[in-house]
Amino acid sequence: MPPPGLVRSPVGAAGNLPLMIERADGSGPSEQRRRVLGILGAGQLARMTIEAAAALGVPVVLLAENPTDAATEVTSRVLLGSPADAGQLWALAARCDVITFDHEHVDLEMLTTFEEAGVAVRPGVAAMRMGVDTAHMRATLATLGLPTVPHEVLDPRLGVGMAAQVEAFGELHGWPLVLKASRGGYDGKGVWPVADQDEALAVLRGAEESGVPLLVEAFVRIDFELSALVVRRPGETLAWPVVETSQVEGVCREVLMPGRVDPQRAAQAQAIAVRIADAIGVVGVMAVEMFACGGSLVVNEVALRPHNTGHWTIEGAVTSQFENHVRAVLDLPLGSTEACATHVATVNVFGPPDGSDPMHALEGALAVPSAHVHLYGKEARPGRKLGHVTVCGGDAAEVRNRAWRAARELGTSVPAQLLRPAATP
Ligand code: ADP
Repeated sequence: MPPPGLVRSPVGAAGNLPLMIERADGSGPSEQRRRVLGILGAGQLARMTIEAAAALGVPVVLLAENPTDAATEVTSRVLLGSPADAGQLWALAARCDVITFDHEHVDLEMLTTFEEAGVAVRPGVAAMRMGVDTAHMRATLATLGLPTVPHEVLDPRLGVGMAAQVEAFGELHGWPLVLKASRGGYDGKGVWPVADQDEALAVLRGAEESGVPLLVEAFVRIDFELSALVVRRPGETLAWPVVETSQVEGVCREVLMPGRVDPQRAAQAQAIAVRIADAIGVVGVMAVEMFACGGSLVVNEVALRPHNTGHWTIEGAVTSQFENHVRAVLDLPLGSTEACATHVATVNVFGPPDGSDPMHALEGALAVPSAHVHLYGKEARPGRKLGHVTVCGGDAAEVRNRAWRAARELGTSVPAQLLRPAATP
């Protein structure tokens, strides 16, 4: 039984859902002293944020869409509902001091009314728009004079005229091209490389049906990809070391610190990320994904939240991206972003093709020296991102080999595209 004055309130519809203990009058003395963080979304990013918040004694309330979402397993404070439901958002706002995000599938117009009503939304709706709307992000980068991928926004009102727009863009920049959904994409979903006009037409027809605005972009000949992670609160912006990232079919498979990122490029990438963070006044963690081509850097994507390319910071940096995100959104002093090792490798773990659960192979992975294994508690499905492994150390090849050894134990083998003679795991 809860102590007197407290009620155990089922916060979902079903009886077996997590319970939230709250004071009957909604304002217990302990909650007055401790600020509560609300997270919109309950995936693995929310799960790892809760782990960091718990260490700081910060209570977290989640708005989860499904009772089985990854973060619901690590907190009893769960509201069940859609992020598009204003009533549920108000319920979340009533239970916390600051709202932050696990993903960017949010309704910015609705969040604006919350912000205007005095709800603390972090990173702030104006900044958040960068992560939600690729066309807006590209326009902002152009305003700041930062290098971005040559692109054009396809006006869906043009209907078949979009094909003519793509054709004209192709004549100017050459084929292949990349078509990209302006909203709602993740892990390469919403990114379509197209070799010619026929392939482009097929994508345009699909997009017309879904009503999603599109961008057409030049296909960039990428030497390698990198990610610059920063954290900002008003008056204080810090950058972590820049990492090399490898994607296969649009999905990040491994992150290497520093990988092929030389100090000059790292400084350039950090300066770009800090410039964006300060210009848009972000509060919290922000990741800027870039392409290295020739001697230059091109910004591809900006994410306004902790990011998959920053998981290495949990063990590899003095302060993790999750802890610094919590600190920033609660306006607490930020922790050092320095690396704890000269080399760090993080490898993502996916559901094996046979549908088995990597959890059952934990013993083998933990036997790999220095391997830090993170499993997100998600139901195993082939190809689903289920966890990651990080290894820190002094030797680039060794940390990479160990990270892949542990991932392989968990059922994720090295994609052929990542087999490199210099560091073949
Ligand atoms: P998402 O947000 O779904 O991850 P991204 O825009 O980050 O989508 O694209 C995913 C991956 O697709 C990138 O990491 C890169 O490998 C590739 N890609 C995206 N845009 C381009 C482009 N214009 N030229 C070449 N490759 C691209």
